[in-house]
Amino acid sequence: CGIIGFTGNLDATEVMLNGLSELEYRGYDSAGIAFFQNDAIRTIKTTGKVSNLIEKVVSSVDKDTTCGIGHTRWATHGGVSDTNCHPHTFGKVTLIHNGIIENYHELEKEFAKESKFPVSQTDSEIAAMVIDSLYTGDAYEALRKASDILDGAYGFCILFHDQPGVIYAIRNGSPLVACQSEQGSIIASDMVALIKYSKDYFVLPEHHIAKLDGSQIEVTALDGTVVEPKILHVDWDI
Ligand code: GLU
Repeated sequence: CGIIGFTGNLDATEVMLNGLSELEYRGYDSAGIAFFQNDAIRTIKTTGKVSNLIEKVVSSVDKDTTCGIGHTRWATHGGVSDTNCHPHTFGKVTLIHNGIIENYHELEKEFAKESKFPVSQTDSEIAAMVIDSLYTGDAYEALRKASDILDGAYGFCILFHDQPGVIYAIRNGSPLVACQSEQGSIIASDMVALIKYSKDYFVLPEHHIAKLDGSQIEVTALDGTVVEPKILHVDWDI
């Protein structure tokens, strides 16, 4: 229900937790973050309030991560449980998802034939399985093919485990906005989470992929064409 991703030269846990706090007004039942630490992925998630997550993070994380994704969940598929909280990891893919994957059940049955099973009851983990099954090192190819397979509404932020420091995002229906600031690249489901960092932002166009690497955000259409997003400006503060 709320999405935030940051990569750059600030402490990413702080940016993510601030962002999730700003997004709290949307309503949610769980919260979680995943981030690169020494080139490996670490995930911390919990049911309940963002303050529960903050407690868990503060007691266990050294502030040495600069790239991560965070989510507040409003459960639609799968009950409210620690396992069902986002981020979800399958294989080389860790993602957060806003929306609903309509055909997750059929996809799950296909994976079962290959003896691949999700650990959660969510539609979102099935999307992680789909993207992982298509990933051979080229994120664009995997996401393009996944967008043909996945039906429903989604905004995803994705970490590929062999690409530390990089966040990919793609959307269909669910909102995603992004900005590049001096401190890094940031993406969120709502611009209230960005405004601390920049007043210039853009809306990721539908069916486009954003690649955030800290120094820039590259937006491409599914056919690979690089797109210059239209920059919008706000002049209010929070
Ligand atoms: N359908 C997903 C779930 O139930 C995502 C819900 C959301 O947008 O927060 O986990």
